[in-house]
Amino acid sequence: MIKEKIQQLANDIFDDVVANRRHLHSHPELSFHEIETSVFVARKLEELGIEYHKMADTGLVALIKGDKPGTEVVALRADMDALPILEANDVPYKSQNEGVMHACGHDVHTSSLLGVAKILTELKSEFGGTVKLIFQPAEEKLPGGASLMIQQGVLENPKPSAVIGQHVMPLIDAGKVGFRSGKYMASTDELYVTVKGKGGHGAQPQQNVDPVIITAHILTALQQVVSRFADPKSPSVLSFGKVIANGATNVIPNEVYLEGTFRTMDEGWRAEAHIKMKKMAEGIAESMGGSCDFKIMKGYPFLINEEKLTASVRGFAEDYLGKENVLDLDIWMAAEDFAYYSQVADSCFYRLGTRNEARGITSSVHTPTFDIEESALEQSVGLMAYLAVKQLGN
Ligand SMILES: [Zn+2]
Ligand SMILES: [Zn+2]
Repeated sequence: MIKEKIQQLANDIFDDVVANRRHLHSHPELSFHEIETSVFVARKLEELGIEYHKMADTGLVALIKGDKPGTEVVALRADMDALPILEANDVPYKSQNEGVMHACGHDVHTSSLLGVAKILTELKSEFGGTVKLIFQPAEEKLPGGASLMIQQGVLENPKPSAVIGQHVMPLIDAGKVGFRSGKYMASTDELYVTVKGKGGHGAQPQQNVDPVIITAHILTALQQVVSRFADPKSPSVLSFGKVIANGATNVIPNEVYLEGTFRTMDEGWRAEAHIKMKKMAEGIAESMGGSCDFKIMKGYPFLINEEKLTASVRGFAEDYLGKENVLDLDIWMAAEDFAYYSQVADSCFYRLGTRNEARGITSSVHTPTFDIEESALEQSVGLMAYLAVKQLGN
């Protein structure tokens, strides 16, 4: 049985996967600068006799073809970049690159995919079809490594019928995984707004155009975009976390600067909301004698897990880990550049549990104390290999 063989191999190579994860964890590199990481992955692929080619500078793509007949292609994706965070964990594999940390678990994703490569290489004679391995740079930074690799043809020659990705989740216990069918994560756009008026003495408002009051109206009014124009069945969030009016008790400033985020799960509505927000802010500012410069920096699209593929992959996960270890995920309004694959190919993005409360491993991703329960690497590697082989029809 292929399942038992994969389980055995995942157990056999566990120490090796942990060592790779620790190496990557202690040598983190920022988005678009995954130079050493890329060399490391390339060397590991060479050791396995797997041919690869580079893409988007530091990205790598490789194919593993089974010996049995089969024309299906399934792609597996791992991201490789780290974050500008100073690691606070006191562990032997602590970041040696001060101020840079694998705080989103991309070291786990990369070492896991290398483990999958090893298992599939060992099992070539047991399956048919092709697995495409995608080691992708720069998930954490716009425009996102996924978008660049897609532009450069990562989903062509051969074209995968499914793209599968996993991500660590410290809310889920190690040993378990989570799935969600359909819309799962949000599109994310950054808003940079300058409200301009005419500053002056706070005692003489009649001689000035007060950008603080204009801003107050704009902030309140923009919430109507979410509450009155958005379809209540589809989530939207608008938050402004930065509002700077650098006046004083008696000084009205010339301008107010705002930064915010807009998130949703519908590309048509996203475009429409951009126009509405801009128009509303500009209109309010103008009606009050000021002006408004409303800039939108478009981020990743929303992430959708294709229903048929997700049902199929989830079934394989239940088979591999046991039904009790496969959970349902809720919608999450964060963004992830795997969304780009999901917009153009049938895709499934699932969560790998990495929590161990007894050992104090509970910190969120993107925090200086994030870490994982490493036993999860055994399921991570075995499950991904199993999903690929089964999805190929074996
Ligand atoms: Zn992240
Ligand atoms: Zn991440």
